[in-house]
Amino acid sequence: MKKTTRHTGREQKFPAVSKSTRSLRRVRAGLENSPGRYADLYDNAPAGCFILDPDGRITSLNPASASMLGKERAGLVGKYFRDLVVKDDREIYHQHFEGVIREKGIRNADLRLAVDNGAQLHVRLASLAVSNDVGETAEVRTIVTDITDLKTIELETIKHIRKLQKTLQQQLSINNNLRRSNEDLLHFAYIVSHDLQEPLRTVASFVQLLQRRYEQLLDAKGHTFMEHIVEGTCYMQRLLNDLLSYSRVGGEDIARKPVSLQHVLEEIKSSFSEKIKESEAEITSDDLPVVQGDEVLFSTLMQNLISNSLKYRGREVPRIHVSASHGKDQWLICIRDNGIGIDPRYAEQIFLIFHRLHQRNEYDGTGIGLAICKKIVERHGGRIWVESQPGRGSVFYFTIPDRKKIH
Ligand code: ADP
Repeated sequence: MKKTTRHTGREQKFPAVSKSTRSLRRVRAGLENSPGRYADLYDNAPAGCFILDPDGRITSLNPASASMLGKERAGLVGKYFRDLVVKDDREIYHQHFEGVIREKGIRNADLRLAVDNGAQLHVRLASLAVSNDVGETAEVRTIVTDITDLKTIELETIKHIRKLQKTLQQQLSINNNLRRSNEDLLHFAYIVSHDLQEPLRTVASFVQLLQRRYEQLLDAKGHTFMEHIVEGTCYMQRLLNDLLSYSRVGGEDIARKPVSLQHVLEEIKSSFSEKIKESEAEITSDDLPVVQGDEVLFSTLMQNLISNSLKYRGREVPRIHVSASHGKDQWLICIRDNGIGIDPRYAEQIFLIFHRLHQRNEYDGTGIGLAICKKIVERHGGRIWVESQPGRGSVFYFTIPDRKKIH
């Protein structure tokens, strides 16, 4: 019994002692190996490691540093690190080194080192000053990482961004030039149409005088010629008036006030009452909204669209309906008629100035009405278009941004 107990006791005690001994041995072996390990880390580090004296002279460097610079390791010892830096970046290095000594913390700096073959290496320095027992700087340790690839990408990206900026600036200046020449053109149209009215009025009044005073002296041909002159002069006056209205829409600043489209429509109905009665036209509408903008311009817009619906009527009695719906940030206004319709091929052309689909003897007009409509809508920040088929009526749509909803 005794024997067994003693044996058991020894068996419990000995394994514990040998475990701690083993781990102690491991620690001691580790400690014995660590200088070697540090040396290995220093020699085979994937970055350059420099040790500098407090004046910035190289006292030691690892093989990676020398191969990075393409120089002999031994030849670099004793040299000033700053002499490895390209001239333009020496001030950066100077600030970096001074900072490291002064502030005793890790500092970084990006700069270029001169390589033997004349090339330059973009590097990132991470430096730390180590002090002696009395607090003076004993040495500066600097890790040098080659960031040439990163820098190349960065420089390429900057180059691309600069190129983009240049293109954008050119585009902006083209836009400005376009805007300016558009304004010049409108100004020119205004001056021309305004100034031509005066001599045209003189022509018109003298032709009328001729017609009245010398009517009996003219034969049948003379009368026809005279009629053509009067007609041409009147048409020219209308063209100049329309051109004047068109250039006016482009120029001045427009008002931004609440405008009731319902009210605008009622006014148009009363000013067209003769035409409506004559053609027995039916003009109906939904409840039309109050929009923000210029009342005179909205009135011109609706007037042009409704007078076209009356003018380009088919065989049936004209039926025109104005409706409105609210989208996300805008009103959509729609004017539907049962007139002759439009070939969809011309759906965009008809909004260009002087574009007409009919001869004057078929339907009278100057071809400016829809161009004015487009300008008015666009000046209010909206869009105008038509959906139509010949013989099936037309639907003109325009949008007006709802300013209350736009932040
Ligand atoms: P104008 O009526 O003086 O010719 P507009 O610019 O108002 O000039 O219209 C351009 C052309 O668009 C017209 O000549 C006509 O052919 C077509 N158009 C415009 N509105 C309608 C409509 N409601 N129905 C059919 N055609 C239309």
